[in-house]
Amino acid sequence: MQQALLRDARQCAVCTNTTTYTCVNPRAHIEGIDIDSRPYELSIIALPYWVQQCGTCRHCGVDVRTVHPDARAIVKTTAYLAILNDTGYPFLAREYLAAAHLCRMTERYAEAGWHALRAAWKCEDMLHPMAGFCRTSALQAFELALQHEQSVGVNAFESALIIGDVWRRNGDNATAARFCQQAQLMAEHASQRVVTQQLSDAIATSQRGRIQRSVITN
Ligand SMILES: [Zn+2]
Repeated sequence: MQQALLRDARQCAVCTNTTTYTCVNPRAHIEGIDIDSRPYELSIIALPYWVQQCGTCRHCGVDVRTVHPDARAIVKTTAYLAILNDTGYPFLAREYLAAAHLCRMTERYAEAGWHALRAAWKCEDMLHPMAGFCRTSALQAFELALQHEQSVGVNAFESALIIGDVWRRNGDNATAARFCQQAQLMAEHASQRVVTQQLSDAIATSQRGRIQRSVITN
């Protein structure tokens, strides 16, 4: 089994400062995931390491070595720094929300949504009241992603399933059901039908907690 975490020296693409980061090993085996794609076992260990913040220029991203050219100016803006300095959120959630802001400002809406969703996971883990706000921010970014034909999941089925589950967790069962129906129409394999049924059942019973996907082998 591959190590889940690695140490890696990385040069920031904004300011060229090099820092050694703890990074999630992309080859690490992940045992199971929730419907909204949160890796079930690995997530508590890995969640702090899906975002990196440069200690010099405060650039936040999934990998500080890569950056949109416009981000060099954005990381200096009041709006960006206000997110990082907002003590109303857990520290890690602020890093994710700053990364989400950078992505949103450079029209990478699907990535922005994922960063905001991870901020929500961090808040959930701490029973922090801003989890709902972070999920709403993720849903707004995912909506923009769909409008700009950016893929949220690996395919249209996954995108509908994930977005539906995030709506459910945010307490909007009507919108969750609409996305769940889209996923049901696109389900081709037995395992896809099982997972959409899981989501449908959870919506019907208004369960807002985490539900783990059944084993998907297709
Ligand atoms: Zn930097």
